[in-house]
Amino acid sequence: MSRSAHPAGPRHADVLPEGHYAAPPADLNALDPKVWAQTVTRTAEGTVSVGGIDVKRLAEEFGTPAYFIDEADFRARARAWRTAFGADADVYYAGKAFLSRAVVRWLNEEGLNLDVCSGGELTTALSAGMPAERIAFHGNNKSAEEIEKAVSVGVGHIVLDSFQEIVRVAHIAERLGKRQRVLIRVTVGVEAHTHEFIATAHEDQKFGIALADGQAAEAVRRALKLDGLELVGIHSHIGSQIFDMAGFEVAARRVVSLLAEIRDEHGVELPEIDLGGGLGIAYTSDDDPREPHEIAKALSEIVTRECEVAGLRTPRISVEPGRAIVGPTAFTLYEVGTIKPLDGLRTYVSVDGGMSDNIRTALYDAEYSVALVSRTSDAEPMLVRVVGKHCESGDIVVRDAFLPADLAPGDLIAVPATGAYCRSMASNYNHALRPPVVAVRDGEARVIVRRETEEDLLRLDVG
Ligand SMILES: *Cc1c(COP(=O)(O)O)cnc(C)c1O
Repeated sequence: MSRSAHPAGPRHADVLPEGHYAAPPADLNALDPKVWAQTVTRTAEGTVSVGGIDVKRLAEEFGTPAYFIDEADFRARARAWRTAFGADADVYYAGKAFLSRAVVRWLNEEGLNLDVCSGGELTTALSAGMPAERIAFHGNNKSAEEIEKAVSVGVGHIVLDSFQEIVRVAHIAERLGKRQRVLIRVTVGVEAHTHEFIATAHEDQKFGIALADGQAAEAVRRALKLDGLELVGIHSHIGSQIFDMAGFEVAARRVVSLLAEIRDEHGVELPEIDLGGGLGIAYTSDDDPREPHEIAKALSEIVTRECEVAGLRTPRISVEPGRAIVGPTAFTLYEVGTIKPLDGLRTYVSVDGGMSDNIRTALYDAEYSVALVSRTSDAEPMLVRVVGKHCESGDIVVRDAFLPADLAPGDLIAVPATGAYCRSMASNYNHALRPPVVAVRDGEARVIVRRETEEDLLRLDVG
């Protein structure tokens, strides 16, 4: 079976595809609330503000490039997910999207659980007071040390990703005199990309254990035999930046039929299913993401219906949104350095950051928006490519966008929806100093991850 809604996903040609940006936006000074954090507005003076503080003041105080995260928006989105799923489900924030101790505290206060996928993320979560039983540990190659730490601190779930890991976790738990609650991650044969998905028998990827050929059923058989493990459910994560719920429907149907097989063979009904994350956000005004309450309703209806058909009790559902919570809550603030018009082609606008603070454009051909935020302008729109300062021609932040033609060095521009997978994937390429993350709320700004310094670089380089 194969379906697709409408063609989308990454663009590979180095030209504007037909129909894309056929016209610049009607008003270059407007800020589309779909792509900007909740409290972002234009002040009477024409500058942009977030959490009641104007970006010129933020740039003066914290420098550029820098990420500014709207704390009220983060909390509101976390709460919306929590409320939408209610008491019979669990929301795990996917820490890999962006994790810091402040974020862990916000999640804790808003009643969310947390996914981690490395010892470093686990340490961060624990050090900020996330109760271990509300943490799930993921990853396709967890080290023995990581497993040992996770089991001994008592994480709520370890998500088993391979046959080797079933045995490894069981041994470690037994040695520590524990019985570890686990899920088995299966690949259901759904490849989901933004507006389309393909359902296949197999999935060609490193994560999980295939449902196909009875692999997952064999993993369950083995896990159920081991004293160190308490198998509580099945996990599936089908992709990222997904808008089409139909991929989740296929995944849920296939996971529920595995639950039915398990009941028939072993006489046990596993009490939990985790449908993963991957819900899309608006990076540009063309994207139309679903609200958490629509997603919760759709997922719970699918699972309830499939379980009724199979004669199973409805399991407790978990979801793992990362991007959908943190992505829209932050923007990256840059200062314009140089401007190079290439006649008849486009204008290259260089900023003081680049692929070291946002690798997604280079890595996935991701699309972003951009706006002039230190002032308004009535100038004509010009087609720009926003690029960084790295020694690499693929160092692109925003591939195609419009900015006012009077843009000048020293102007501040901001790229919205950079809360997810930007700081968390930031690098020191060209010995760039990774930017700070500043939380802004109710007229107060506070550094939650400080800017790296040259001393930080030299400290790692032991000569
Ligand atoms: C990456 C990932 C997520 C989060 O994905 P988003 O696209 O940020 O929602 C959730 N669960 C698992 C297992 C993941 O690998």
